[in-house]
Amino acid sequence: MTVIEAKEKLTALQAKLSAYGHASGILYYDGVTTAPKGTAANRAQALAVLSEESYKLTTGEETVALLEFLDEHKDELDATEQRIVFLMLKDIRQMQKIPMEEYIELQRLMVEASDVWHTAKETNDFPLFEPLLEKVFAFYKKIAGYCAPEKDPYDYWLGEFEDGLDKARCEEFFSTLRSRIVPLLQKVSAAKQLDDSCIHGSFPAALQDELSRYLMETIGIDMAHCGLGTTEHPFTTSLGSHYDVRITTKYQEDNFASSMYSVIHEGGHALYELGVDDSMAYTVLDGGVSMGIHESQSRFYENLLGRSLEFITLIFPKLQELFPEQLKDCTPEDIYRAVNRAEPSLIRTEADELTYCLHVMVRYELEKRIFAGELSVHDLPAEWNRLYKEYLGVDVPDDTRGVLQDSHWSGGNIGYFPSYALGSAYGAQLMRKMRETVDVDECLRSGNFEPINAWNRENIWKYGSLRKPMELLETALGEKFDPTVYTDYLEKKFSALYGF
Ligand code: ZN
Repeated sequence: MTVIEAKEKLTALQAKLSAYGHASGILYYDGVTTAPKGTAANRAQALAVLSEESYKLTTGEETVALLEFLDEHKDELDATEQRIVFLMLKDIRQMQKIPMEEYIELQRLMVEASDVWHTAKETNDFPLFEPLLEKVFAFYKKIAGYCAPEKDPYDYWLGEFEDGLDKARCEEFFSTLRSRIVPLLQKVSAAKQLDDSCIHGSFPAALQDELSRYLMETIGIDMAHCGLGTTEHPFTTSLGSHYDVRITTKYQEDNFASSMYSVIHEGGHALYELGVDDSMAYTVLDGGVSMGIHESQSRFYENLLGRSLEFITLIFPKLQELFPEQLKDCTPEDIYRAVNRAEPSLIRTEADELTYCLHVMVRYELEKRIFAGELSVHDLPAEWNRLYKEYLGVDVPDDTRGVLQDSHWSGGNIGYFPSYALGSAYGAQLMRKMRETVDVDECLRSGNFEPINAWNRENIWKYGSLRKPMELLETALGEKFDPTVYTDYLEKKFSALYGF
């Protein structure tokens, strides 16, 4: 085989894998959006076949031989091809380190854990979930040992979600956040609370749907390549390539801001996916590089742009057109204050911009201590409640609204949470950099998102997964990542809002 032939084979292999991904993705999307209730088993049947085929294709002898051949001829590959081979081989080598029977056992455990977690959350029954969660943590420790015996197991999982991340970096990052956000929140709590009555009322879902489409167009989403659905938990997914992206939202008829910010958040994820360079279509590079970078984009649109007074003033005529009665006594300033009201709360996914990272920190602390053997799963609820009191000042009334609220642990996403907080901080520093060359406020006032999107496309989106997250970020920034840019932004914004 010549290198040219091998490259052609690699292209064909990736096209095939993306086709399998496309088919599985649309089946999943259909399942969580519009499929009739009784069709889950039918879909599961097809998904099982597709995932087996794609597993065989990814890890089969022919694939491994092809990738190893290309790896040996690295010098004859360009940077893009080298990255593709590196990423595909990395996945295979990881998988090869886990004994087959353990891998199968893990799949079984995850199905059971997720199922039991649902029941435990509904019935506020942590003891029911406890033995499963113990097994999950133990299994993840064991897998880290197989895949990276030289590494601390929690460092391994942090790095899996955000390449280059480890405890040392997390400690530094979170201690900066903690030292600035906790006192800031205390000042906010002591100040007069902002009135948020204007976002509450009666807002029919059909009208909110019109608002969603208007928002997607306003922030520059190409509606010919991005669809909108409704689900219990909003998310973004691409199907097969960046030419077909879907976002979802959930309408709450008593509060239009809830879905509005879900749409803008998921819209930020969608813009990132849609903005990957066309040369990466149908390759493993076609998509965002990490959760942290992805969140930097979604939170950028949701908070830095979407929760600004300029943006709310821009969309205010549309809000009034859709909800003339409900909003007849409101001004853009009223809505601005309402959507920026900050207060300690129990549920992470409903938390405001200021307190959000404190929720993330609680989870990071707990994961870290469990991995270090300093905390048992049995003591997890009590420790969760203690940390919520310490960081947020709230009393957790039950485990449903406490330790059982997130699906992450039952889904095996351990080490995932820090990327949410990192993304917020990345976004704030990207905004500062963007403002050096783009008049962001003027773009928001005139409703012209193109200069903003062009900057993000040129510096972040077009690279897909080509560059490592930190390399991508620091090249865009032209400096080192510095979380104090984010805490400075929060201090400035919330001291002005609350008048201290
Ligand atoms: Zn997100």
